[in-house]
Amino acid sequence: MKLLVTGGAGFIGSAVVRQAIRDGHSVINLDALTYAACLDNVASVADDARYTFVHADIRDRAALDEVFATHAPDAVMHLAAESHVDRSIDGPGAFIDTNVMGTYTLLEAARTYWVSEGRPDRFRFHHISTDEVFGSLGATGQFTETTPYDPRSPYSASKAASDHLVRAWAETYGLPVVLTNCSNNYGPFHFPEKLVPVVILNALASKPIPVYGSGENVRDWLYVEDHADALLTVLQKGRVNRSYNIGGENEVRNIDLVRMICAILDEKRPKSAPYADQITFVSDRPGHDLRYAIDPTRIASELGWRPSVTLQKGLEKTVQWYLDNEPWWRALQDRAGVGERLGTKS
Ligand code: NAD
Repeated sequence: MKLLVTGGAGFIGSAVVRQAIRDGHSVINLDALTYAACLDNVASVADDARYTFVHADIRDRAALDEVFATHAPDAVMHLAAESHVDRSIDGPGAFIDTNVMGTYTLLEAARTYWVSEGRPDRFRFHHISTDEVFGSLGATGQFTETTPYDPRSPYSASKAASDHLVRAWAETYGLPVVLTNCSNNYGPFHFPEKLVPVVILNALASKPIPVYGSGENVRDWLYVEDHADALLTVLQKGRVNRSYNIGGENEVRNIDLVRMICAILDEKRPKSAPYADQITFVSDRPGHDLRYAIDPTRIASELGWRPSVTLQKGLEKTVQWYLDNEPWWRALQDRAGVGERLGTKS
């Protein structure tokens, strides 16, 4: 297939681009190169004849029209977004602009192109979203595809809005869409402001390892390359106008995740004191959702997809990747906001 991937210079988008090229697809990677982007993430495929990079913004309709006309993609995989909850608390406007208006602009460009091509049934607009649209769970229960939306942060509200737009374009205009709602990702090329890399990099720098609140918040962690694999599976095998929840079957409290990473570092890069001694509890994120958990029954039973790595194995691979790729993360640590406590301005 010829895939138009938005946000392909980001964390998950770049994993999708790398795997799509490995699988034999052609990829047009459209990215505005915001603070969260890094073209090194796709350096391994940059010279491949099937790979094209387009520097463009999903809010720029003229640029999108040109990309559709020039490349005639078989499908869109839409990952471009503002993605950091803490930044959404300090500056929600960018999240509304990109995640809502940008998705709207991309939908309209895709629809115009799809109509101009004679409304092919096999075209897909794959919208990549988050489990955070479903809100916060108590101690029990899991999110299914029919769980009511209940977003609670500017980030999750903007993603929920974009999900609604995508469904509306399917119902109203007949655009063939698929949606996925995924749990927290981790793995190589994770931007150094997110929890897993913050833990690894602060540990290595002998700095305090910050844990929000009492660390009781539970997330269902998914290795990023498993997510990319799930996305390409849903794109090719998923039923049109249907959504699929994607999870890692790896629920764990934040404090336990942090301790797991510290223990792996104790093994791989031992020093005189255990890394867990650096754990420091800091004030909680405003409106911090307590628990997310994915019921993966639909993607497992309909598409036969399951995650390939356990959290322990995925974290070992991730820690090793950060140990082996210091120039990558050092270059990103100068970017605005990285290393600062964000999201306290509520
Ligand atoms: P990221 O922040 O690492 O990357 C986002 C990419 O989008 C960057 O390369 C950025 O330059 C690009 N981008 C931002 N605004 C743009 C614009 N206006 N036009 C074009 N490009 C733009 O994000 P990520 O963690 O890779 O997440 C990718 C997608 O997956 C997002 O839609 C996010 O909501 C969703 N998601 C993320 C997670 C997670 O754990 N990270 C979990 C579930 C779903």
